[in-house]
Amino acid sequence: MAGLVSLVGGLLKECSNFVQKTPRRNKFFQKNLLRSAFATLKRDYGGRSPHKIMQLFSPIEEITRINPFYLKKLKRMGIYTVRDLLFHFPSRYEDFSKLAPISSARAGEVFCFQGKIKKIENVRAWRKRMFITNAVVEDRTGEIKVVWFNQPYIATTLKENNFVHLAGKIALGKTGLYLSSPSYEKIGSMESEMLKKNFTHTGRLVPIYPETKKLSSKWLRFIIKPILEKIAKEIPDFLPEKIIRKEQLLPFPKALQQIHFPDSLKLAEEARNRFCFEELFLLSLFLLNEKRKLAKEKSMAIPANIEIVKDFVQKLPFKLTDSQKKTAWQILKNMEKDSPMNRLLEGDVGSGKTIVAAIAALNTAKAGFQTAFMVPTEILAKQHFENFKKMFKDFDLKIGLLTGKESRLNNRKLSKEKFLEKLKAKKNEVDILIGTHALIQEKVKFGNLCLVILDEQHRFGVKQRAELCQKKEFVPHLLSMTATPIPRTLSLTVYGDLDLSLISELPKGRKKIITRIVAQKDKNMAYEFVKEQVKSGRQVFVICPRIEIKEETKKNVYSNWDDVKAVKDEFKKLSEEIFPDLKIGMLHGKMPAEKKESVMKKFKDKKTDILVSTSVVEVGVDVPNASVMLIEGAERFGLAQLHQFRGRVGRAEHQSYCFLFTSLRGQENSRRLKALLTSEDGFSLAEKDSKIRGAGDFIGSRQSGIPDLAMASLGNVFLVEKAREAAKEILEEDSQLEKYPLLKEKIRQFHETIHLE
Ligand code: ADP
Ligand code: MG
Repeated sequence: MAGLVSLVGGLLKECSNFVQKTPRRNKFFQKNLLRSAFATLKRDYGGRSPHKIMQLFSPIEEITRINPFYLKKLKRMGIYTVRDLLFHFPSRYEDFSKLAPISSARAGEVFCFQGKIKKIENVRAWRKRMFITNAVVEDRTGEIKVVWFNQPYIATTLKENNFVHLAGKIALGKTGLYLSSPSYEKIGSMESEMLKKNFTHTGRLVPIYPETKKLSSKWLRFIIKPILEKIAKEIPDFLPEKIIRKEQLLPFPKALQQIHFPDSLKLAEEARNRFCFEELFLLSLFLLNEKRKLAKEKSMAIPANIEIVKDFVQKLPFKLTDSQKKTAWQILKNMEKDSPMNRLLEGDVGSGKTIVAAIAALNTAKAGFQTAFMVPTEILAKQHFENFKKMFKDFDLKIGLLTGKESRLNNRKLSKEKFLEKLKAKKNEVDILIGTHALIQEKVKFGNLCLVILDEQHRFGVKQRAELCQKKEFVPHLLSMTATPIPRTLSLTVYGDLDLSLISELPKGRKKIITRIVAQKDKNMAYEFVKEQVKSGRQVFVICPRIEIKEETKKNVYSNWDDVKAVKDEFKKLSEEIFPDLKIGMLHGKMPAEKKESVMKKFKDKKTDILVSTSVVEVGVDVPNASVMLIEGAERFGLAQLHQFRGRVGRAEHQSYCFLFTSLRGQENSRRLKALLTSEDGFSLAEKDSKIRGAGDFIGSRQSGIPDLAMASLGNVFLVEKAREAAKEILEEDSQLEKYPLLKEKIRQFHETIHLE
């Protein structure tokens, strides 16, 4: 029975873990998931409700102390079950553990003492329109004034002659020292209380929770503490005993207790460490497991056709860089094996990854197999499509384009049905299919897909990758491409199942892009400069943070949208006032596909001089004649994103420029923007950005499917490596995890989380 209890406990824990990680918008889904979890639970208990576990996985509605008002708030924070609540960890602790005599109070210091209430009363401060609760509290060494604001109920909770524990900051007022809005706790008597009573808000290290949705830490302590005491011990620990011992981790119940109500800061740290380790361990175990599974799969071995590749390379208008040659070679060699390639091609913006991918696709097509090339935006799909048609014009390839709105084969437009029919055919009627997310729709079936290429893959969830690689008779080779430089710890964990090919140089002859921060007052100079560039034949990008600003928002005096440039406004201003003689185009994500396409085409064909756009041109867009990138409201973008924008220029031999317009002068902002002035390459920028904003920003935790804590601890190389080692050890000992049913279940669920997300 105990085994069953813990097994079901584990299963439910998983479900709720999943629920916890699922974004809020998915409420309906969450509810259903919980419901099915309960159904499983009931079934396994023959319909009786297993009391203790129900408490842990009960919806928060069942906690009697929480009223509907708070329920709503908790749910808005993604807290649906008791377990979610227990996994809402404090962000720091206030040290109220040492008691001091009142006589030792000093202004400005945090102070905790016990005493007797000598006097307490509410007064109304009319001028300030608030209640003030004044009290005097004494101990053997003296007395002190205590003041609370706008909490009149305190005078009904605490009465004269009550003994209390108080903790807070000492302030100096007109009439002397006073304790300002302290935390308080009633106690029965003086002295010996310390030993008997288990304090919550004072007299200990007190947890301070992230202040979201105005839920006070005091309220959370009040709710969490009794639940913890009741059920922490019931939660099964899925980490194998021997790992806990070897890594000297806190056992689960103790860790949970200590992260909320620690006996010492050291123990709080150890508790946090255990939870970070736990998530990193799972992540590693999951990835290593995937890698092992994949290695056992069969894939089509595609021989490298050196003749054709050479022919293709010779016909290019430029010489490949050494890095491009090397990585193309690695990929071709990798695909000669009959186990699936799983490779990440990493190279800075503009380093020429597309050509390398094209070589792999060409070789695949000439061997008689299909390639799927998936990109994040329609604009990019279209661009690659045109580019591939041009590159392969002498190679007789059937190149397809599939987006949400259109399907084409070389120069022919086809109906979707017709196109999908051709794609499915066994003999290749489509050699290379380029497209957006549309490629992973269920009805899209390939005849003999052998290679999957994902461009800017960090923008995709693990899920899409897996979907495109769906198992048929054999698993296609996978090549992901990214310009996002990946720190070592990330590549160990997040991309731990991928082999790495690195393009470490830019094509020869590229000039350094000159980057400047431009203040409001200097804008005109930048505009003059733009005019000159256009006169000499170049083109210009202008990026704005928004599409448009609603009228009511504009009127709202409190909003600072005044500073936020919108594409539509900027387009109007630039074409009417600033550059009336120039041809200006506008582009944003909400335009219909055909419109986007024609705008892009005009810009590529040099029919427009300036393209005003939102961030839709962030990745991949390739217009080598453009030489100026002008970014409005630069402070609103992340560094990695700004680096991507900058990468839209300087893609040919022209000297290129990037102007960062900013109206803010905040320290943080200017520090961030200045990092762009001094770093040309994405790698050093990545390091700086992750220092300034935290590693998570880079891959975007929402898209990566990585649990929050793991994300937060990715910077901790030491912990990451330890977790990975531990995962390896467990898999070597027992690759099927038969000895570790809880762990096995956890991994299965992890798999599901990532694939269902
Ligand atoms: P990214 O790595 O950012 O995807 P692209 O593949 O779009 O870069 O290449 C950027 C530009 O550089 C393209 O216009 C491409 O034709 C050009 N290019 C690629 N390789 C070379 C090379 N070896 N020499 C000169 N230009 C190149
Ligand atoms: Mg690219």
